[in-house]
Amino acid sequence: MKETENKILADVNGAVYTLGIASQLSGIPAHSIRQYIEKGLLIPFKRDSMRHLFSMNDISRLKHIHHLIQDRGLNFAGIRALLSMVPCWKIKECAKKDSQECKGILMAYQPCWEASKKSLACKNENCRECEVYTCLSNSAELKSVLRELF
Ligand code: SF4
Repeated sequence: MKETENKILADVNGAVYTLGIASQLSGIPAHSIRQYIEKGLLIPFKRDSMRHLFSMNDISRLKHIHHLIQDRGLNFAGIRALLSMVPCWKIKECAKKDSQECKGILMAYQPCWEASKKSLACKNENCRECEVYTCLSNSAELKSVLRELF
């Protein structure tokens, strides 16, 4: 039983850690992690039971969000604004017509993964695995993504 459970957990893109473990590994209190999720800064993996699970990538992202808040003085609104400015339409190479209708592009100050109506390029995508979402794992990575685009 334990082995089956472990296999299931290993199949979900490394999302194997519960909130308590993610809190221990990142050094960030569980209530702060819940807040980051509520504010749309982190998309946790959800099991059928609706329990949140976290991967090592999530742990890095949590640490980076925490760093931006604690050491760089950004608040939630500032981080959301930063995330909303990642040029998803360029990264996903959206067709012009598509990008004119995509709410992910049109919404100001909201990350694209919160959009109710997405372009064709995003419709069946798992945002957790998308470069637009994952590029916040650290600032250097975000900067290098932007440098390649412009
Ligand atoms: S797949 Fe999700 S994260 Fe990626 S560009 Fe589309 S909406 Fe944004």
